[in-house]
Amino acid sequence: MQGLMQDWPLLIHRIIDHAATQHGSREVVSRSLEGPIHRTDYATVRQRALRGAKRLAREGIKPGDRVATMAWNSWRHLEAWYAIAGVGAIYHTINPRLFAEQIVWIVNHAEDRLLMLDACFVPLVEKLAPALASIERYIILTDAAHMPQTSLRNAVAYEDWLAEADDDFVWAAVDERAAAGLCYTSGTTGNPKGVLYTHRSNVLHAMQVCMTGSIGPSANDSVLCVVPMFHANAWALPFALPMCGAKMVMPGSRLDGASVYDLIEAEGVTHSAGVPTVWLMLLDYMTTNAKKPSTLRQVAVGGAACPRAMIVRFERDFGVDVFHAWGMTESSPVGTTGTIKPAVGKLEGESLYDQKAKQGSAPFGVEMIITSDDGVRLPWDGATVGRLKVRGPCIAAGYYRQETQILDAEGFFDTGDIAAIEADGTMRITDRAKDVIKSGGEWISSIEIENLAMSHPDVAEAAVIGVPHEKWTERPLLAVVPARGSARDPAGLLRFFEGRIAKWWIPGDVQYLEEIPHTAAGKINKVRLREIFRDYRLPDDGV
Ligand code: ADP
Repeated sequence: MQGLMQDWPLLIHRIIDHAATQHGSREVVSRSLEGPIHRTDYATVRQRALRGAKRLAREGIKPGDRVATMAWNSWRHLEAWYAIAGVGAIYHTINPRLFAEQIVWIVNHAEDRLLMLDACFVPLVEKLAPALASIERYIILTDAAHMPQTSLRNAVAYEDWLAEADDDFVWAAVDERAAAGLCYTSGTTGNPKGVLYTHRSNVLHAMQVCMTGSIGPSANDSVLCVVPMFHANAWALPFALPMCGAKMVMPGSRLDGASVYDLIEAEGVTHSAGVPTVWLMLLDYMTTNAKKPSTLRQVAVGGAACPRAMIVRFERDFGVDVFHAWGMTESSPVGTTGTIKPAVGKLEGESLYDQKAKQGSAPFGVEMIITSDDGVRLPWDGATVGRLKVRGPCIAAGYYRQETQILDAEGFFDTGDIAAIEADGTMRITDRAKDVIKSGGEWISSIEIENLAMSHPDVAEAAVIGVPHEKWTERPLLAVVPARGSARDPAGLLRFFEGRIAKWWIPGDVQYLEEIPHTAAGKINKVRLREIFRDYRLPDDGV
């Protein structure tokens, strides 16, 4: 027997409709690329998104078409997402930090019809444009006064383009399983892979993110969206914040410590979310300039392992509660968050930080397992490590225009991460499968060594890779960016590890670098690091 409740499709535009009626005057504040701070609210964002949708329809954009965006976080980018999804088309976010060939490959693979871009990306896109055959028109996210001279085909200033339509538009009534968003993973190996979100997956994921115990924003919060919209849906914040009515603060292109700090103070920011590299810049700025945040209460750190030392610094020096978030483009992206469950008891000091350094537990809607390489399920004992696999309504089932089967027989997706899970469901990532260091037939966790190295006062940033070793197959090599003004004492640093990790985990050597390479998504670029040390031999190799 069927139940007798309403069928109310989970469509993205319903989120901005809700925000406009329940939280219409709640602010969306952006540091504009033109310079000044721009203020709008959810009711106005909705109105302009309706206009954008009408204008897109007049442009000939139909349900299922792809419309690309290459833009920093701003109110215009937000309006563009809702407009594109609202006409039934698919917003396709492009990471401008990718290599030029990757951008060209992605646009051609997606067959984007329009590209909406910030004015600062015009020079980059002009170089690529001859290879972007499918793009019929370039819409520059600015007004007439700031419109650059450009050779881009049919280029128009967004404000002029938008002014050509009114907001008398009815959102497209697409199926909730229709595609709404497209985001390609950086593809450190092979071609990028397109993750195709549905309206339903985005709405459900935003609800997951809104749950207490997850990122859990509320109408009383002011949230700084540090994570860019071109990186894995900006962790659902463009949907979750209007859903709950939180004030939305968009940093534009300026993610340096001073700019982020100033915005936090000016806008009474209480919560934020982003990758560790951005927080390193903020922490350094606050330490060097003796500043403290006056309203910031909580920061979610993810996209890469949050060094334990960062958690300690935020909490001890600045009174900011840090929690870990783990996920990936394929998981919408938030998979786990570092809530402390009652089962672990009341933790304080070092044991609390140890717990917070773990990636945390899954919300309703994310099922996790760990398996051996041949698919045998492994126990949740906190010690056994295996391949982390996930299943749920917000997890990718396949890649756009690729035949490859990415789910196992039970519907689980292999994340490519190596993890241990505790009996209470708390998960800890030890490595990416491709970064694991194999030494003497055992695995060494590079994340654990990096965490420890980062807790040493002489270390600003640390990365560990496996380098070939005659006897042990591989041994860890520690690459370090020294803290400002600190001495370079490799022997002292290696002694620091003694008694803190197993002897055979202690790196074979320390090499100092000016900078650790990062990927377009802000993660340590281990592929590049391995290239840098391709000809390197450990001092004891062959001994
Ligand atoms: P890409 O796959 O294109 O590099 P993603 O953002 O999808 O970009 O990367 C997801 C990966 O980032 C995860 O599989 C994991 O290896 C890493 N990651 C994300 N969050 C964390 C975290 N909190 N701790 C450790 N690793 C993380």
